[in-house]
Amino acid sequence: MVGGIYIFLGFCFGTALGSFANAAAMRTVAEKKWWGRERSVCDSCGRVLSSCDLIPVISFVVLQGRCRSCRAPIPLRHFTAELSCGALAALFTWRFGLTPALAFAGASLPFLAFNTLTDLETGYIYDSWAVAMAVCGMLLRAAHGWPGLLDGLFGALAGFGVIGAIIVASRGRMGLGDAVLMLGIGAFMGFKLSLLSLYLGFMCGGLVVIPLLLAKMVTRKTAVPLGPFLCAGMVLSMLFGSKILPYLGYITQWPWNIF
Ligand SMILES: [Zn+2]
Repeated sequence: MVGGIYIFLGFCFGTALGSFANAAAMRTVAEKKWWGRERSVCDSCGRVLSSCDLIPVISFVVLQGRCRSCRAPIPLRHFTAELSCGALAALFTWRFGLTPALAFAGASLPFLAFNTLTDLETGYIYDSWAVAMAVCGMLLRAAHGWPGLLDGLFGALAGFGVIGAIIVASRGRMGLGDAVLMLGIGAFMGFKLSLLSLYLGFMCGGLVVIPLLLAKMVTRKTAVPLGPFLCAGMVLSMLFGSKILPYLGYITQWPWNIF
């Protein structure tokens, strides 16, 4: 168990990661490059934002959600992305303490945020970020040698395989992006927790989509993005996986799984 100061630092770090992931996601969606020295500007008046306009969460609250110059509303998405990443990072710090699991959870956060935001915005998973997530997960796993790497590899292949099989069975009504995203999720989670992430992700999807179907707010033809649910499944799996799997007869620890 860690002290409140670490949880607060985790929150601050998470808001910064959320801010970065949101800026990268929105620039990618707009087909601009997200790296390099290009400064962020107001979408309405084009004014280059100064550092005091870019403090995660706080700037939005102080500016009351409006541009300092032209008073145009700033999309609420910036605020929610920063706040939810901060909250998740605080939760991870509280749950894992200063352990390797915290490094894994923290490193996965910008990828989860990026893929969730782009999928919600465009219905599209950017393969480059999903593959980069898989590479990042495997690099972290290398710290534990071959057992860690193999677990990540099997996790990635299992995740890709399950979604791939659904794509084939649905005759391509689902995009390949979700399968590529599972490469990243599987590399981070390892074999058993990758499958649990999928299961929990589909459960989350069902909990949201079935009421919407019943309320006729979506139809069976509506393209509901799966990526955000897979990301939610991964978060639940990180937080609770090692508590859930013993009920199924598996002892597992994250991030290192003992075969
Ligand atoms: Zn403006």
